[in-house]
Amino acid sequence: MTTDIFIDNQWIAGADGTFDVVDPATGEAIRPVSNGGTADARAAVDAAAGALVSWRNVAPRERGEILRRTFELMIRDCDELGELIAAENGKSLIDAKGEVTYSAEFFRWFAEEGVRMGGDYGTAPAGGTRTVVTHHPVGVAALVTPWNFPAAMAARKIAPALAAGCTVVLKPASETPLTAFAMAKLMVEAGVPAGVVNIVPSKSASKIVGAWMEDPRVRLISFTGSTGIGQMLLKQAADRVINSAMELGGNAPFIVTEDADIDEAVAGAMIAKFRGGGQACTAANRLYVHAEVAAEFTAKLGAKVEALTVGQASEGSDIGPLINAAAVDKTQKLLDGAIEAGARVAHQAPIPAGSKGFYFPPTVLVDVPADAEIVREEIFGPIAPIVTWTSDEEVIALANDTEMGLAAYLYAGELQRAIRLGESIEAGMVGINRGLVSDPAAPFGGMKQSGIGREGARVGLEEFQETQYLSIAWPN
Ligand code: NAP
Repeated sequence: MTTDIFIDNQWIAGADGTFDVVDPATGEAIRPVSNGGTADARAAVDAAAGALVSWRNVAPRERGEILRRTFELMIRDCDELGELIAAENGKSLIDAKGEVTYSAEFFRWFAEEGVRMGGDYGTAPAGGTRTVVTHHPVGVAALVTPWNFPAAMAARKIAPALAAGCTVVLKPASETPLTAFAMAKLMVEAGVPAGVVNIVPSKSASKIVGAWMEDPRVRLISFTGSTGIGQMLLKQAADRVINSAMELGGNAPFIVTEDADIDEAVAGAMIAKFRGGGQACTAANRLYVHAEVAAEFTAKLGAKVEALTVGQASEGSDIGPLINAAAVDKTQKLLDGAIEAGARVAHQAPIPAGSKGFYFPPTVLVDVPADAEIVREEIFGPIAPIVTWTSDEEVIALANDTEMGLAAYLYAGELQRAIRLGESIEAGMVGINRGLVSDPAAPFGGMKQSGIGREGARVGLEEFQETQYLSIAWPN
């Protein structure tokens, strides 16, 4: 029997049969997984609510030690976890193992932040009171994560939640639940008590998450995924006025000025665009290259793209498949639409012939109209559309002409100009002369429709806390 629902540190069978987790590199099933139902969703909250009182009273240092041990165990099992991520997500082994270390760092970071439970003590201007400000765990937190970073998106929520004294119920993406199960096993080994972390995989996301959104014991929804589902959850959250943290879609501009180091910019673009096959919320979606250097940048980027090996992670490829057949169709439609609008494929890498995997060729696209759908939509695939520009005002207007505002990248020679441009971009994270912005110590999150709230840094812990003050009569 498949027993993949993790409640109260027990593995139980789901209410609604099973579903298959598929290897996107082959199109074949890896193994069946329990399909959670409404009863499982409720049982998970029963366990989380039951564990809350004791977990919130565990000393911060003790909670921190458990998180620290989870970090160490993830590093110990980095190869194994990386192979699991690569199997269910399809990304290359380098990307998968990089994700494991990045994820583990959230446990280390919040092990350290969680012991600094500050507060405040004040006096009212009029006198007569003392104010004591303290921070408390929000309570049971519902976490919902996507498939593109199966370990990191869970770690970025679980670690701060546990550090703050919250207990959690997690629904991982149905494409990639196996990594969450492996992390749960490590958390038990690290000493996470029963009921503190509960995981319910399901093919019917709305059944599970819907049950949590209606449950009065759930006090916070932390969601990472598409803007559309985030908007729906925010509406549900409004009904019960529960705390909401939303990490949503992106449409990152990647700007190259005429005085940038072009080799560095190309190296940065390879990371920002092609890491994970372009399936990152922070992925460079539109490359705005100054007209004076566009030919050089395109030729150098094209040479690197044509040299990429596309294939199975186990074969040591640079880039794996997309997550499923629907993703290939969507990416192909965006490419076809761009070509119809006048764009031209300048460079492409080959994909494995005759494979049943969901491969899409890494592509560099030139002559892209600035208003083409491919630069307005989140591609979530390995296409680099290049648009040229000539003035700073023009490129800022292009970069900001979107409802999304998650990440942006900027390669420029003169630092003051780079900072000025960076501050003009409406995005929560701007990489200056680097193609990667993620860092456990930095506040990850978006402006506009890319989200509400931040993960990582100090603020990532505060998302899982409520502020309270005691107003104490203090006669003069
Ligand atoms: P998605 O379709 O929104 O799914 C995300 C999660 O929501 C999955 O666990 C999914 O479950 C669940 N879900 C789907 N329908 C739901 C519903 N009606 N009610 C409650 N939960 C529901 O997103 P995705 O395709 O997995 O991920 C790609 C998107 O995530 C992109 O837009 C990307 O930019 C964004 N993302 C953002 C960040 C960030 O930090 N800002 C990070 C990574 C990804 P199922 O798997 O069962 O469908």
